[in-house]
Amino acid sequence: MRSAREVVVNMTCDQVSEHFRRIEFACHCGCGFAAVDVELLELLEDVRNHFNAPVHVNSGCRCLAHNREVGSKDSSKHVRGIAADIRVEGYSSAEVYKYLYRKYQNQHGLGIYKTFVHVDVRRERKRWIKLAN
Ligand SMILES: [Zn+2]
Ligand SMILES: [Zn+2]
Repeated sequence: MRSAREVVVNMTCDQVSEHFRRIEFACHCGCGFAAVDVELLELLEDVRNHFNAPVHVNSGCRCLAHNREVGSKDSSKHVRGIAADIRVEGYSSAEVYKYLYRKYQNQHGLGIYKTFVHVDVRRERKRWIKLAN
């Protein structure tokens, strides 16, 4: 199973790409886990450019302890640093999900929730719908 391939950067303010900063991917518990996967970052930049709107990362990296705290399974891709729960300003989760669903036909994990979309860059294809959260 793959883990994050780290982005190597030397930019000011911890900027890891045009629209994202490393801090946005950091585990919310404060442990400092903030891997940024190259492929995930490219995907998020594409979403940013497609909708031409800010993309908010509700949850990126999670250490195992924090992942358990939020009630997620140990196999969660957030633990491996290759997942993000995102919200695009001005767009519903359905609109964001639909775009990604059409774009990535045979790979990645996509889950739609009421207020956000989970995306991870696993090699295999997985889709789920959890609109009741
Ligand atoms: Zn943590
Ligand atoms: Zn998620």
